[in-house]
Amino acid sequence: MNQVARAKQVKWAREILKSAGLRQTEARVAVLTILFSSRTPQTAFELHRLVSEQMKVDRVSIYRILTAFRRAGLIHHVADKGFVICSHPGQEEDAHLYLICEDCDSVEEIGWPNGLRESIRRQVLMPAHFNGAGPVQITGLCARCR
Ligand SMILES: [Zn+2]
Ligand SMILES: [Zn+2]
Repeated sequence: MNQVARAKQVKWAREILKSAGLRQTEARVAVLTILFSSRTPQTAFELHRLVSEQMKVDRVSIYRILTAFRRAGLIHHVADKGFVICSHPGQEEDAHLYLICEDCDSVEEIGWPNGLRESIRRQVLMPAHFNGAGPVQITGLCARCR
């Protein structure tokens, strides 16, 4: 990544942290920028390795950062895969819709199409007497892998 792109990402990450009311530490900025530039989910283990290339950081700090980011709605944990950046950080939303590519492991978070959440509630959850709010994951092949 060139210096200008990197500086832009750092600035963006600092603004995201500020608006979420989180302290702007170097490790937090590093985790956010890594997730921002990853198309695929990153595990805590992998994030620790990548941040360690930039600075000295212990694994516990990485876990704490990930917990704080999840609580603030800046990132999501995709089951069995790892962490992804939220496509709309700071906006209230209780459930998410993911398109997961089975070939390249990329995860795209998309907004709910009009009426779909209500349809799922009425046609899937209510008949099953199931109380749930997502996330909903659709697996398949992404545009690059098709
Ligand atoms: Zn999100
Ligand atoms: Zn793919």
